[in-house]
Amino acid sequence: MRLSSFFMPTLKETPTEAQIVSHRLMLRAGMIRQTSAGIYAWLPLGYRVLRKIEQIVREEQDAAGAQELLMPTIQSADLWRESGRYDDYGKEMLRITDRHDREMLFGPTNEEMITDIFRAFVKSYRQLPLNLYHIQWKFRDEIRPRFGVMRGREFLMKDAYSFDIDPASARRAYQRMFLAYLRTFARMGLKAIPMRADTGPIGGDLSHEFIILAETGESGVFCHKDWLSLDVLKDAPGFADDLQPFFDRTTAIYAATDEKHDAATCPVPESDLVSARGIEVGHIFNFGTKYSKPMNAVVAGPNGESIPVEMGSYGIGVSRLMGAIIEASHDDNGIIWPDAVAPFDVGLVNLKSGDAETDRVCADLYAKLQTAGREVAYDDREERPGAKFADMDLIGVPWQLVVGPRGLKTGVVELKRRATGEKEELSIDAALAKLAG
Ligand code: ATP
Ligand code: MG
Repeated sequence: MRLSSFFMPTLKETPTEAQIVSHRLMLRAGMIRQTSAGIYAWLPLGYRVLRKIEQIVREEQDAAGAQELLMPTIQSADLWRESGRYDDYGKEMLRITDRHDREMLFGPTNEEMITDIFRAFVKSYRQLPLNLYHIQWKFRDEIRPRFGVMRGREFLMKDAYSFDIDPASARRAYQRMFLAYLRTFARMGLKAIPMRADTGPIGGDLSHEFIILAETGESGVFCHKDWLSLDVLKDAPGFADDLQPFFDRTTAIYAATDEKHDAATCPVPESDLVSARGIEVGHIFNFGTKYSKPMNAVVAGPNGESIPVEMGSYGIGVSRLMGAIIEASHDDNGIIWPDAVAPFDVGLVNLKSGDAETDRVCADLYAKLQTAGREVAYDDREERPGAKFADMDLIGVPWQLVVGPRGLKTGVVELKRRATGEKEELSIDAALAKLAG
C-alpha cells in the first residue's frame, strides 16, 4: 500500500475524549471513527488488524474441531421467550419492531438461535459431539460504553456452542476450548490467564474468564504470583490427547475474578497472591441443559431414549482484543504490533520522495517484498523524514526499512525493529533477504 493514496487519517493532537492509551492510539493512528456512542466505523488500517485477529481466532477454533457458520444479527423475540431470557435480559438488549409489528432484537449473544438450529437438524446421539461457531457483530446497549472498542455497544465476538450427549463429553469439549483459547491469545503475543468466574445470566456451574493483566482493565482479579512468569503452553498437549491432566494442572494454579475470590477460603498465602486489574478477552461456560431443556433440544440415545443435549458456550471479544493488544504493547511513540496481527509486515520509508534514485530503489523493494508475500506500507508521501518516522512508529509496523540518498551512495539502507528500536545498516540485497526470506 502506498501511503500517498492510503486512507489513514492520522491525528497530530491527542484526542481529549479518550481516557486510555489504546483508545487514544487507535484514534491517532486513524484506525476507527466513532459514529454513535459505543459504535465505531473501522477505517482501513483498523480493519486490517481486525481481520488478522479474527483469522487467528478462526484458525484456532478450526484446529480445535469447531465448525464455522454465520448466524444473523437480528433475531426473533419469540426464540428468547422460549428460554425465558427475553424478559431477563433487561435494557442491554436492543429491541426492534418490524413493519408487521413483530418483535425482533439485535442479538447480544446466540444461545437460543444455535439451540434452535440444532434441534431442527440433530436427532441422534450419533451426530454428536458438535461444536459450531460464528464471528458476528453483537449489540449490547451498555449503560456506559467507554474506552473505545473495549466496551462498545456494537462489537465483534466469536461465539462457539458445543453439544454433547453427556456431562463427561461436555467437559472434554470445554477443555478443548480452554486449550484453544490459550493458544489463540498466545499467538497474539498476549498472556491470558484463565480465571474461575461467575456464570452470570448465561447460567451453569463451570466457567472461566480469560484475562489480560492491565492497569486500565475493568475487572478486579486475584492470582498466584507464579502466573506472572509461567508459560503454561510449554508442555501443553495436542487436541488428540487427553486434556484432563493439562486442565487440572493449569487450573490448580490459583486465579479468580473478584466475584469468585474469597479471602477467607483462598488457598494462596497473602505473600504469594497478586491483586491486579485485568481485561476480559474471553469467557467460556459449561451450562449443561439450561437451554436444551426449555427449548426441547433432545436427541435419541443408544436405546432410543430422549436425552436433552449438554451444552457450553465460548466467547472471545474479537474487537476488544485490539484494544487489549495495544494496552499490552505500546510505548510513548505509538503502537507496537506483535507480528501476527500487524496491519503491515514492513514499513518502507522513502526519505526523499522525488529523488530519482531513491524512488527507483524504493519502488523495486516495494515490488520485491510484495512478490515475496510481505504486506508493505510504502511511505512515498512528500513529507519531512521526521513526520514519516513518527507515523511509522505510531502505526506500529514491526519492521521499518529506511531508504535515503545518503545511504544509497554506499549502497546501504537502514532496517529498524519497532519493538526494540534496534537499527542496522545493510545492503539492499541483505535487507531483502532478511525481510523476504
Ligand atoms: P463484560 O463483563 O466485560 O461485560 P461479558 O461477561 O458480558 O463481559 P460475554 O457475554 O462473556 O461478556 O461475552 C464474550 C466476550 O465478548 C467477553 O469476554 C468480552 O471479551 C467481549 N465483550 C463483552 N461485552 C463487550 C463489549 N461491550 N464491548 C466489547 N467486547 C465485549
Ligand atoms: Mg457484559
